Amino acid sequence: MERVLSGVQPTGNVHLGNYLGAIKQFVELQHQADCYFCVVNLHALTIPRDPAELREKTLELAALYLAVGLDPDKVTLFVQSQVRAHSEAGWLLQCVARMGELNRMVQFKEKSKGADSVVTGLYTYPVLQAADILLYQASRVPVGEDQKQHLELTRELAERFNRDYGEVFTIPEPMIGKVGARIMGLDQPEKKMSKSAESAFNYISLLDDPKTIEKKLKRAVTDSENEIRYDPETKPGVSNLLVIYSLLTDTPITRLEEKYAGSGYGALKNDLIEVTVDHLTPIQQKYQEIRKSAELMQILKQGAEKASQVAEDTLHKMKEAMGVI
Ligand code: ATP
Ligand code: MG
Repeated sequence: MERVLSGVQPTGNVHLGNYLGAIKQFVELQHQADCYFCVVNLHALTIPRDPAELREKTLELAALYLAVGLDPDKVTLFVQSQVRAHSEAGWLLQCVARMGELNRMVQFKEKSKGADSVVTGLYTYPVLQAADILLYQASRVPVGEDQKQHLELTRELAERFNRDYGEVFTIPEPMIGKVGARIMGLDQPEKKMSKSAESAFNYISLLDDPKTIEKKLKRAVTDSENEIRYDPETKPGVSNLLVIYSLLTDTPITRLEEKYAGSGYGALKNDLIEVTVDHLTPIQQKYQEIRKSAELMQILKQGAEKASQVAEDTLHKMKEAMGVI
């Protein structure tokens, strides 16, 4: 059976971009593939954070994975730091990666811009991400569009390793949805929605209450026309709202354009508020139940054990190939 791996960082608040671009695909894939989904908490260390908050966000994200419908009997759900092979393989791959290729990573440039100093982990983290994927011999990796460059690096490292040390890795393919792979910020629709955005008006968190969702969507930036039309180039704000609406309701965008022909932005926003609240309420109820139960820790423990078996096997092959005893 085909192997799939993906992860989300336990940073900030999981938002509709993460959900529509990546996590919703996880839920569909669990019925078709041997899936490994992780909370990539080691990646979260690339920006200094409060330890107590990181711990809390790690559990929050794991509980959200279950709340959106991942079934721990079908998928392997784990926390990255609980599978030691990730750090070890990350180092081995750092000795395969080149400075030149890391220098080209757009995300590093964006995340380090304006910072007085950055930790070296922010620079090398795409290599750790490559290790995350390659350890599981994943053939497909469902991610949002912003991860395309990191996936290309992963493929490059895998090919180089296989060429220089012998065939160890499966070469993974990114799985990037046609629609929703780049949900834009509500307050800045020319940039992607992001957990690390400065303003909470940038995103809808999966845990936002109805009042907050209403406030944020009402404030969402549109344009000075009053025509509901999908045109990301000239109408990024309205187009983004249409994409979100379309994905939450499984309605083609063209149908929405017909439905709202002649209506104003207020009508579209009011309906989208209702659609979003309806979609997120059951997820939030399930989330609360999971956080109250003791089951979560047990699921993560079992997940880490199962993931370790696969990861250790690949790590052993890597070390053998590289002559590390
Ligand atoms: P950060 O700003 O801290 O990097 P993030 O919002 O980019 O947070 P990640 O944890 O880095 O979230 O990414 C998790 C997954 O969500 C990845 O597959 C990523 O490609 C996807 N993703 C992130 N932002 C968006 C977005 N705006 N639209 C679609 N997919 C997204
Ligand atoms: Mg990101």
